[in-house]
Amino acid sequence: MSARRSRAEAHVVATEKTTALVLRTTDFSETSRVLVLWTREFGKVRALAKGARRLRGAFESALDLLNCCDIVLIRKTSGALDLLTEARLRECFSHLRGQLQAYYAASLIAEILSICAQENDPHPDWFDQTITTLRELGGQEVYAVLLHWELRALREVGLQPVLDHCVQCRQPFVAPVADSLTWSAVAGGLVCPRCHVATPGRRQLPRDLFLQLRHLVAASNQTPRAAHDRSPLTLPPQTCLELLHLLHEYWMHQLGQPLHLAVYFQPIQRSAGQ
Ligand SMILES: [Zn+2]
Repeated sequence: MSARRSRAEAHVVATEKTTALVLRTTDFSETSRVLVLWTREFGKVRALAKGARRLRGAFESALDLLNCCDIVLIRKTSGALDLLTEARLRECFSHLRGQLQAYYAASLIAEILSICAQENDPHPDWFDQTITTLRELGGQEVYAVLLHWELRALREVGLQPVLDHCVQCRQPFVAPVADSLTWSAVAGGLVCPRCHVATPGRRQLPRDLFLQLRHLVAASNQTPRAAHDRSPLTLPPQTCLELLHLLHEYWMHQLGQPLHLAVYFQPIQRSAGQ
């Protein structure tokens, strides 16, 4: 074996098969694409698909955004792109293409995953739940389905907001809950009256919204069976939008970058005193 060949092989880990969701796709050359994939077995993967831009290439249309496919990868070490050698379409969620709000919700899921999913950090159950979510987005309750997914996502990536004590001084909140609480997406949760002046990004959180959020976060923390509690599905769309708006602001501060698709999920502002 030549020295050159053995050096090249030292960077190749293995050929692996997995199921993947296409999170992002970028043209790389006349014929190739670079993909960000979320795989069931390996977490996030960045891969080069040679020939993927050819009309009748090896991948056909399997690698379009938000498609779920079975793939074969040659995994590389030392930060190099993996090489995608096969992709067969498993599911393309065609219902999303005909419903704008559902498509935005699915695209927002892909945006959040492309930021917070990590390489070599697989979450197979969450992956399966995400595929189910993409199927469910074809129904009427787009906002509730998205909210349900985001609550699970916050738990999976360890970013749940602090709701039972002051995020600054750690003093527990005791019942009864005040009519309005101070919330800071920057600090990561609720803030007590003693700390709120010194807390950046603070805003008032109405009691009813806080109680909903606390209930939903608690439900998402229960056992896997109870975690499928569909309680957000019973919420009215406006409440879902208010909670989504709160969470999107929170995601952006916690992740340190904007969520471009969040602009499509704006609630109607409450009037004063509501
Ligand atoms: Zn405090």
